[in-house]
Amino acid sequence: SKQVELVSRPEGMPTSDNFRLNQVSIAPIEEGEILVRNEWMSVDPYMRGRMKEGDSYVPPFRIDEPLEGGCVGRVVESKNDRFAEGDLVLGNQGWREYWKSDGEGVQKIDPELGSPQAFLGVLGMTGMTAWVGLKRIANLRSGDTVFVSAASGAVGSIVAQIAKANQCTVIGSAGKESKIEWLRDKAGIESVINYKKTKNLSDELARLAPNGIDVYFDNVGGDHLEAALEQMNDFGRIAACGMISTYNATEAPSAPRNLFRVIAKRIRMQGFIVRDHMDDYEEFISDVSSLIRSDQIVWEETVTEGLENAPKAFIGLFEGDNLGKSLVRIS
Ligand code: NDP
Repeated sequence: SKQVELVSRPEGMPTSDNFRLNQVSIAPIEEGEILVRNEWMSVDPYMRGRMKEGDSYVPPFRIDEPLEGGCVGRVVESKNDRFAEGDLVLGNQGWREYWKSDGEGVQKIDPELGSPQAFLGVLGMTGMTAWVGLKRIANLRSGDTVFVSAASGAVGSIVAQIAKANQCTVIGSAGKESKIEWLRDKAGIESVINYKKTKNLSDELARLAPNGIDVYFDNVGGDHLEAALEQMNDFGRIAACGMISTYNATEAPSAPRNLFRVIAKRIRMQGFIVRDHMDDYEEFISDVSSLIRSDQIVWEETVTEGLENAPKAFIGLFEGDNLGKSLVRIS
């Protein structure tokens, strides 16, 4: 079975030299176990944190070991009553062709609900992150003005559409014209800032949100957070989801410089991690499925072919290569 291993910890932007494709053999499964052949794997920004030594919210990846992450595969052999050959399953053993498991933490997928890979995106971790951040952390209310950064990404694109479906005014930011067009033409989000072409993010936000921002869904941190703090209304809420602008940084960020706004404006800013909210999974699926059925949520996938290209797909997240969910098809 082929697998992608971490050879060295990246300094700054990861490069292909940090990864290696290796071939290993897998011992036969034992009583209670299943053997799964991966069909899809997810690449996610949080994996960058696991490539560092020491503290992140998940333990670091180990050198010379395969990486891990969300994956969807098919059971090819089962000695576990819960699973039958041919079942589609969601697991956390991405970055490899085959894996064995005793079934713990492995979830069967209902193909009626969506495509297999949708369970890595809109119906999976990233979709649920959007939903949890708005519903449980930001306490979204209809009529709010919502700003979301990385708005065309896996999480951001769903945030923007859930907010819109809740009668909110939505402002996004993204780094490419093609992404802004997609948001406008496919997702119905009119106000999107191209932050790479904008001299002053805060001024541009003020222009697009003349009545201020009630909710900021932060995927980016840094200058985006600083601009949002500047334009937030009193008693605004910030769902601190991610800070991708800092993940490859080799020195401390220079923004935000205006954190005092949290006090002056009585802002409630809360960080969250989606996996703390798994009890809400059924409610999330039911909510988002109904928005999909009523065409209020559409989504995009950027598919990279072949396990050997997974590092490239991962690195692409930091270069803005993906529109919507970045996925690797393992053929
Ligand atoms: P995306 O699909 O949004 O991909 C990343 C995107 O981020 C890129 O396409 C790029 O888009 C943008 N980006 C990259 N670097 C920068 C930068 N320096 N400044 C501004 N934008 C940048 O990824 P996800 O949707 O999977 O993740 C989005 C965020 O949510 C991340 O911060 C991630 O860590 C976080 N997250 C948090 C979870 C939680 O439980 N708290 C769970 C899942 C994700 P562009 O072209 O627009 O720059």
